[in-house]
Amino acid sequence: MDITVLVPLYNEEESLVELHAWIKRVMDENHFTYEIIFVNDGSTDNSWKVLQDLQKENPEVHAIRFRRNYGKSPALYCGFARAEGDVVITMDADLQDSPDEIPELRRMIVEDGYDLVSGYKMNRSQGDPLSKTIPTKLFNATARKVSGIKNLHDFNCGLKAYRKEVIKNIEVFGEMHRYIPYLAKEAGFSRIGEKRVHHQARKHGKSKFMGWNRFVNGYLDLITLWFLSTFGKKPMHVFGFLGSIMFILGFLAVLTVGGNKLYCLIAGIPHPLVTSSPYFYIALTMMILGTQLFLAGFLGELISRNSQERNKYHIAEEF
Ligand code: UDP
Ligand code: MG
Repeated sequence: MDITVLVPLYNEEESLVELHAWIKRVMDENHFTYEIIFVNDGSTDNSWKVLQDLQKENPEVHAIRFRRNYGKSPALYCGFARAEGDVVITMDADLQDSPDEIPELRRMIVEDGYDLVSGYKMNRSQGDPLSKTIPTKLFNATARKVSGIKNLHDFNCGLKAYRKEVIKNIEVFGEMHRYIPYLAKEAGFSRIGEKRVHHQARKHGKSKFMGWNRFVNGYLDLITLWFLSTFGKKPMHVFGFLGSIMFILGFLAVLTVGGNKLYCLIAGIPHPLVTSSPYFYIALTMMILGTQLFLAGFLGELISRNSQERNKYHIAEEF
């Protein structure tokens, strides 16, 4: 099978029929063999009924229904598990992403050899308020820096194409759909490209991702990913290092306080109480913090040693 089109959706009943017809037209014009997987993320409207009706006349339509709303990442995760196409295209259900982009996205994977091609919404300001576009710019700049994927302008674009291998080797969790290129890169898929895509204002319904808090969460997720990819398999390296520094600083402070006291005693000059020196408190805090950090490191190691992921590596090929 050439292509799987994967569409996560939450309350998008008005768009589904048109979206399906559009995808079908593009696929037929290009003679692709394909399937469409809709993941109904706990919609409370008529979306599921619409999908059932679509399926009756169109055998290429498949659908998964979540019992409740879990979020876009879980929807993608379950869709990825089920996808069979050599190239997997994800797109939003709201008709903002154009199925006309599919043939070129696929060509970039199949012919140019990209592992992942992300859409880059050119005219995205259409229909989006400033409170969404400005944080988006900031968000992308940070994501570029932290992930080291310098050529991506639009991490969060719903329209993306993947080589099948990629989606079978990454695990989208939490709200990490914003960082799938980063996940792919960490799994060893480094050929990541970008294509400018047309983007329209939402026709029906309203955006499910609004407000500033999603950017706060986005940054926290980015820090988590960075931490996991750098120290996930060796937590002691970070906690042990920080702990050692703290402990050494603390110990130096102890030497300062103790040395001073000793010197005064030997020289027979009046000596103040150790608690009157700021170094005493520095020593106290640093040594406690250092010990705590060490313990956190050991706990991290204990947890990672016992996790099922401890020896999970991505083997590209073997004989
Ligand atoms: N979506 C989803 N589960 C959610 C929220 C959103 O499956 O909990 C889907 C939604 O139906 C759409 C896509 O994810 O197909 C992108 O959402 P939306 O268009 O609201 O985001 P925006 O384009 O405004 O960033
Ligand atoms: Mg949208």
